[in-house]
Amino acid sequence: MSTRTRRLFSVADLAQGARIELETGQAHQLRHVLRQRSGDVVHLFNNRNGEWRARLEIERRAVSAMVVEQVRPPGAEPGPTLAFAALKRSRLELVVEKACELGAAALQPLVTERSVVDRLNVERVGSILREAAEQCERLSVPTLHQLAPLGDWLRARPETPPLYAALERCAAPGLDEALRTHGAGDLLVGPEGGFSVKECALLTDRPGVVTISLGPRILRAETAAIAGLGVMAIRMSR
Ligand code: SAH
Repeated sequence: MSTRTRRLFSVADLAQGARIELETGQAHQLRHVLRQRSGDVVHLFNNRNGEWRARLEIERRAVSAMVVEQVRPPGAEPGPTLAFAALKRSRLELVVEKACELGAAALQPLVTERSVVDRLNVERVGSILREAAEQCERLSVPTLHQLAPLGDWLRARPETPPLYAALERCAAPGLDEALRTHGAGDLLVGPEGGFSVKECALLTDRPGVVTISLGPRILRAETAAIAGLGVMAIRMSR
């Protein structure tokens, strides 16, 4: 197995010769978990400045990195927004991590009629997103929007790009077919208990919303989100 150079997301601007002080969590990991030493090479990245090779300086109180040279220029990383009813912790964390790996540009957690979760640990979700971006070689960390009620969010949302709303047990086209017809768009997935009748009506009437099927089986909400984003990721990389 080849050992990959550790990639670390940097909030600070990256440029040749810059000295970047690493965050406490990153510093702890490098020092105590990965047992890195001064002089070891890491990569620092963000979507403004791209990815840079840097050398660690491990001191008693702080871990910093001296930026040496750019190894990857910045570039746009377009992707869908995943709008989803917030789920219980372990399922939510799974969706968030996989959404990042599958190229979601943003996450929009929602409260729906049948939601059982109406709070979000923003800090925890943020660190899962950052770690997933570090692991999967993205330059950007997906944007995490504030939890919002489905109706409000839908009313404020422009009609383009299309919003693919996943509805089980309905005679809608498959997501792949709908993407061929309408082009790239965002994905909406309901809560464990599904959308209410009222919400289904709201979705079917709303301009810019395309209802889609994810196949004949009833998927758990997290499976639906991951499968839908998987289909979108494959189409976008064609
Ligand atoms: N409890 C509901 C199912 C909800 S599934 C019931 O048994 O009737 C949770 C969410 O996953 C749904 O709101 C929907 O957005 C999505 N989903 C699950 N299976 C799907 C399918 N086959 N096609 C489209 N969306 C699906």
